[in-house]
Amino acid sequence: MPPSPAYRPEPRFFDLGEDYGDAVQSAEFPQAILRFRNDRAAATVGLESLTDAEWIAHFGRFEPLPGQPGPVAMRYHGHQFRTYNPDLGDGRGFLAGQLRDDLGRLLDLGTKGSGQTPWSRGADGRLTLKGGVREILAAAMLESQGVPTSRAFSLIETGEDLERGDEPSPTRSAVLVRLSHSHIRFGTFQRAAFFQRADMVETLVEHARALYHPQVAAGDAPGFLKAVVEASARLTARWIAAGFVHGVLNTDNLNVTGESFDYGPWRFLPLYEPGFTAAYFDQFGLYAFARQPEAVFWALTQLAGALKLVAEAEPLTEALNGFGPAYIRELRAAFLDRLGVKSLGEAADQRLLDTTLALLREGGEALRWEPLFFDWFGGFASSARALGGTRGKLYQGEAFDAFRFALFEHEPDRPERLEHPVFAAPEPEEMLIDEVEAIWAAIDTADDWTPLYAKLARLESARQALAGGR
Ligand code: AMP
Ligand code: MG
Repeated sequence: MPPSPAYRPEPRFFDLGEDYGDAVQSAEFPQAILRFRNDRAAATVGLESLTDAEWIAHFGRFEPLPGQPGPVAMRYHGHQFRTYNPDLGDGRGFLAGQLRDDLGRLLDLGTKGSGQTPWSRGADGRLTLKGGVREILAAAMLESQGVPTSRAFSLIETGEDLERGDEPSPTRSAVLVRLSHSHIRFGTFQRAAFFQRADMVETLVEHARALYHPQVAAGDAPGFLKAVVEASARLTARWIAAGFVHGVLNTDNLNVTGESFDYGPWRFLPLYEPGFTAAYFDQFGLYAFARQPEAVFWALTQLAGALKLVAEAEPLTEALNGFGPAYIRELRAAFLDRLGVKSLGEAADQRLLDTTLALLREGGEALRWEPLFFDWFGGFASSARALGGTRGKLYQGEAFDAFRFALFEHEPDRPERLEHPVFAAPEPEEMLIDEVEAIWAAIDTADDWTPLYAKLARLESARQALAGGR
């Protein structure tokens, strides 16, 4: 079946003109084995009606969907670990299409592992199957917690043998498609500024403003920056509350909507550990867990630098200065959400944030990140469940008393959510490295995909439990 009537193609990236991307073709792969199709996401854009054969034609061979002009590799630069690299760009991916979702948002279908482009820099343009599985898992975990994230849309195994330094090789290949709220990166602006093209910076600001931050007035570059600062502060706060470490917060991996994407060496924290680092190649811990706000702020200053070609420095600086206050406000809100309680004003919300972090800090090895939020979701409404559960004995002492006092001040938020079967289980869904490796090992050694699908089904239950019908 072709796309359903809900399919609304709108390839707006082409409005920008020729200087922003290059028409490319996907590689021809020896095989196309459908491993994952995200029908829930597909239904939001009218693509759930595709047969598997059509799905493979569009997301394995990249025959353009109706109304889409064909693949385009985006041009961008960026700072990688604070070193400027003018040779970036979509080196193993492209924009495969743009379309509206059921909320009216303009989304991108972006690929990873679809073959070489003019920006591949001698690399193979491929994605490992393990890399694809890891991106699916990260996005599903973040989505289940309401973190603004791209969604993995499709994973097709492509039958090649890849050589990689960080995986036992040869290793299997795949092509991933993600559904992302834009792929316009901070680095897209940096590239225009690098060539001293004020006209291009202006075009990009207007494009991204109109499509992604329409509440900002036309021509208001500082207003646009402020919108990106606020969305980025919200995203960063949600990562922290989720215990998530993205791993590679380069300016080419941050986009203007404040929705995260491109999940490579990510990890979720087992325990509160500010210096916890995800990427083995991040020797200095530049992108460690608690340094993510600083990393995002630094990236925002680079975006502001590019915008100096079209705006005065002072209002740009003022917009940047909004990051700190927005981040702390969003962090309070994120912790309230994770604990399932209502706001009680700034002072009380801040006490809850502080005492939660103090408890996690002092809880030692036994008190993991995710279970604390699970046990105490709903505040006092979960008292008996938390104290009677597997971690009941941990909940005592000074740090706990302070946490409980701060938590119980707050009213439960939609406590009927606790009736969901997810909360009857003794343990929450976590996403720690041993489980990720076990899911991969089943695929790798026995071509057994059931642990992956079972994990995704449990994450979907968790998502529904937390969303409570919203
Ligand atoms: P990433 O760290 O995944 O965000 O990638 C950084 C840059 O390297 C981007 O320009 C990618 O397109 C490029 N890149 C990463 N892996 C490959 C690959 N296997 N082949 C070609 N380009 C790649
Ligand atoms: Mg990237």
